[in-house]
Amino acid sequence: MLDVGRHPNIELMAYSELTELSGEAGNFTATVLKKARYVDADKCTGCGACAEACPTPVLDLYNEGHAFRKAVYSWFAQGIPSTHAIDADHCRVLQGKKCGICAKKCQAGAIDFEQKDETVELNIGAVVVATGYDIFDPSKLPEYRYTDLDNVITAMEFERFLSASGPTEGHVYRPSDRKIKAEKAETEKKLAKSAKTLARFEKKHGMASDDFLQGLTTQSVELTEGLAKDAEKWAAKAKEHQNIENRFNELDAQVGRISTAKKLAFIQCVGSRDLRFYPFCSGYCCMHSIKEAIIAHEHDNDTQSVIFGMDIRAVGKGFEEYKIRGGNSSQISYRRSRVAEITRGENEAPALIYEDTATQKVVKEEFDLVILATACAPVKNTPQVAEVLGIELDPYGFYKTEPANPLDTTKEGIFVCGCAHSPMDIPESVAQASSAAARAVQTVIKAKKKAS
Ligand SMILES: Cc1cc2nc3c(=O)[nH]c(=O)nc-3n(C[C@H](O)[C@H](O)[C@H](O)COP(=O)(O)OP(=O)(O)OC[C@H]3O[C@@H](n4cnc5c(N)ncnc54)[C@H](O)[C@@H]3O)c2cc1C
Ligand code: SF4
Ligand code: SF4
Repeated sequence: MLDVGRHPNIELMAYSELTELSGEAGNFTATVLKKARYVDADKCTGCGACAEACPTPVLDLYNEGHAFRKAVYSWFAQGIPSTHAIDADHCRVLQGKKCGICAKKCQAGAIDFEQKDETVELNIGAVVVATGYDIFDPSKLPEYRYTDLDNVITAMEFERFLSASGPTEGHVYRPSDRKIKAEKAETEKKLAKSAKTLARFEKKHGMASDDFLQGLTTQSVELTEGLAKDAEKWAAKAKEHQNIENRFNELDAQVGRISTAKKLAFIQCVGSRDLRFYPFCSGYCCMHSIKEAIIAHEHDNDTQSVIFGMDIRAVGKGFEEYKIRGGNSSQISYRRSRVAEITRGENEAPALIYEDTATQKVVKEEFDLVILATACAPVKNTPQVAEVLGIELDPYGFYKTEPANPLDTTKEGIFVCGCAHSPMDIPESVAQASSAAARAVQTVIKAKKKAS
């Protein structure tokens, strides 16, 4: 990415959308919508002072909704360019309210609430579509209870958990435990607020709230005129405080028992090799599950993982050795089984019901965390992009190509590479991208020769 950002012959148009394409191979006109960032790209240094000061939290989709970012933000820390953007749907000023803190904090004077979308026309010789993939929505398999069991997550969510810059800073805490921690933090704030309210009554009437409540119950407190006026409200606030304190103590005890997830289950082929969804193998998920299990074990040597699959597809140089290393050194066991169902076990532990094909017994087994290896699915807006480009899709919704010309779409001069073509891992995507760039150069040279 850095190389792309620095390359003198590459103009990067991030946060932009291709809206129209006309012409023909060698001489296309592309209309591109450059969306308003409300941050001047020439001035922004990417220092992040604006985001640090912004008071508006927004669910962070880069972290799969397990963290919050700010209304002024960069999608992720290493993003190229590092120019920040303001999310107009959440920014207070752009929603007609008062704020502007980011503009005050930005030393470079880069915040520009008046910035507008811009349309640019480019004369180009060829197009390479490299729009990648979306992960399959696991809620389409209701038996895995993705939407209602907190501790059933996707492999993409787990990638973020394992990352040092992710929501758990690389420590594998279960989402249900993170909820308890978050509730404890909220309850602590409420407790402090209600203690302040009680302190005002206590100061005014020279009595502790507990003594006052006790006195009311035993009718031993003398209700002077001043106290009688406050008595009902004070008693209600004192009872509310006790409830908050009780809840806080409960949560505190629960938090004290929380440790990182030690027993992990990976379920392979979620949506892949499944005639109801995608009949093909997504190719990379067996390897990413092994990788994630190895990393989890590197983070915490007590971690044990079971990978459930019909088989493990470790195809490629060094891949089988990697799989064996996982088994020998990272406490990974490979269990040949298609998990039938997940139910709620004790203490929010997902309980897997499966047939152990080695013993031919149906087993119910609890895990701390279940990670679903979801299929590689076409990006949701692929049909719209295909319409703009005037190219066809294959029956699965990826861009259509012929086996003999895997990079050529159905329109001359438009090429496709990476997961926009079909599931493939990073090295294969990179190799395809180089090939597609070479095919694009051929098109441009051919058109130039024709014109001269
Ligand atoms: C959980 C998980 C872990 C993985 N781990 C590994 C691993 O360790 N090693 C490995 O080799 N592979 C791994 N993979 C596979 C890897 O993610 C893919 O091989 C790789 O991302 C494919 O690259 P790509 O450039 O084709 O697509 P992507 O990485 O999806 O990139 C496509 C880009 O295009 C952008 N885009 C989409 N639509 C548009 C549009 N209309 N206009 C402009 N931009 C658009 C997207 O925002 C995205 O930035 C993993 C996959 C998963 C799900
Ligand atoms: S103006 Fe908008 S982006 Fe800037 S600090 Fe306020 S809410 Fe955040
Ligand atoms: S790579 Fe493995 S998990 Fe992914 S679809 Fe193929 S067999 Fe299933």
